[in-house]
Amino acid sequence: MYDCIIIGCGIIGAAAAYELSKYRLNVAVLEKGNDVAMGTTRANSAIIHAGYDPEPGTVMARLNVEGNRLAAELAGKLDIPYKAVGSLVLAFDETDLGTIQHLYENGVANGVPDIRLLSAEETLAMEPHLSREVKGALYAPSAGIVSPWEYALALAETAVRNGVELHLDSDVTAIEALPEGGWRLATSSGVYEAKAVINAAGVHSDAVHNLAVKPDFKIIPNRGEYYLLDKSEGTRVSHVIFQCPSAVGKGVLVSPTIHGNLIVGPNAEDVGDGDNTACTASGLEFVMNTARRSVPDINFRDSIRNFAGVRAVSDQPDFIIQEAAPRFIDLAGIKSPGLSAAPAIAIEAAGMLEKSGIALEKKDSFIDERRRVRFSELTPEEKNELIKENPLYGRVICRCETVTEGEIVAALHTPIPPRSVDGVKRRVNAGMGRCQGGFCGPRVVEILSREGKVPPTEVLQDGVGTNLLTGETKMGGRE
Ligand SMILES: Cc1cc2nc3c(=O)[nH]c(=O)nc-3n(C[C@H](O)[C@H](O)[C@H](O)COP(=O)(O)OP(=O)(O)OC[C@H]3O[C@@H](n4cnc5c(N)ncnc54)[C@H](O)[C@@H]3O)c2cc1C
Repeated sequence: MYDCIIIGCGIIGAAAAYELSKYRLNVAVLEKGNDVAMGTTRANSAIIHAGYDPEPGTVMARLNVEGNRLAAELAGKLDIPYKAVGSLVLAFDETDLGTIQHLYENGVANGVPDIRLLSAEETLAMEPHLSREVKGALYAPSAGIVSPWEYALALAETAVRNGVELHLDSDVTAIEALPEGGWRLATSSGVYEAKAVINAAGVHSDAVHNLAVKPDFKIIPNRGEYYLLDKSEGTRVSHVIFQCPSAVGKGVLVSPTIHGNLIVGPNAEDVGDGDNTACTASGLEFVMNTARRSVPDINFRDSIRNFAGVRAVSDQPDFIIQEAAPRFIDLAGIKSPGLSAAPAIAIEAAGMLEKSGIALEKKDSFIDERRRVRFSELTPEEKNELIKENPLYGRVICRCETVTEGEIVAALHTPIPPRSVDGVKRRVNAGMGRCQGGFCGPRVVEILSREGKVPPTEVLQDGVGTNLLTGETKMGGRE
């Protein structure tokens, strides 16, 4: 019997696991994917929002601003790629000027630090590639960019290092209330029991809720599509550039990414199926045309990838953070700014568990640090030293991103080792560059096969069933 089981290991489940791992509790995370961050957490704008969008007084407003502050703190402690680059919301006409004034007032009421309104001249001086049609902007210096999957991984890894059990490939299919209190969960990897459950199942949080309790909210999955541009476009802007938000969301943004690329998107389209991450010609055309209103000279010929993520929009206006039944906590409908609010949502969930009678006693020894070698960021002396210690750091596998075999092998020995080529990419950036894994992909397959002692035909590109190779083509001449 666990004290708490968390369902889902996106950023919300990972943050909850990290928070609970500070206490003397027996905690497990059940994730249906074969890795952390396999849902919305790996496909979004990757912005740590400042917190001026949500209306004052909402849970979203409070947790966004607090989550923004905590993200900066966690990034330092857990070696999460993060930078507070600041954001600009552009105004193009009188209506927009009214909107940014309203957002400014929201920001002040929500406690967003150092937020201010800029004139057109000030805005263009900060971002020379913006359209000359800009009439002014709202500037929030505390907005940041992050690697969303590494954020989730860092939290989950730290939780595992502090005793949390992570069960991957564990799809929760049934939940039953136990007569003596607590819950029994049937999954694809077996049956688990816990005194308390946290539902962090993202776009499927309504389905998971309905397994345990009578339905009281509905997720309406809403997809957003993106362009990711090569590093040659990565300095086109240096802040996160938003247009004024509308009823359907924050609109199309143009932003540098933490990995040095340029991200452009998303649109917003209801898709019915929460797992529908397909890109469409019409969606991408809308994104391109809308983005050009902000930054007319983006060179879309330097696009290296398109992708889409699905928002867990719900039929309720705010995040759904509730004890739906005794010791069954929903962290549901966590649409944007969920990535930003995650650590604050986790603290809220821990508080709810405590109120429900689960004692939160701090552990004496909580490991609250994490470091990983990023070879490309080392000085020449540090590189030489490392290669002397371990020659695998002298073999560059991904030429675009200068990722070495040493980094890949080190990732394979972390508390949550990658199980696929994309899992390696999420941990060490191999395959993130201009060639998108065309060169290093086969070498990563070789390393996964060698280190995991499995035939290459068993190596996956991503989730279960994405085997890259079917068998040998040249059988002759071999024993
Ligand atoms: C287009 C787009 C742009 C966005 N941009 C931003 C942004 O810039 N900044 C920001 O703050 N937020 C942004 N968001 C929102 C943010 O990405 C989400 O709030 C956040 O990722 C939600 O995390 P999660 O853990 O709730 O969900 P997920 O990451 O989807 O995780 C849920 C997990 O639960 C697992 N799961 C589901 N059902 C089961 C089951 N039955 N059993 C076991 N496991 C299960 C899934 O496999 C998944 O791994 C954006 C979202 C989208 C779609």
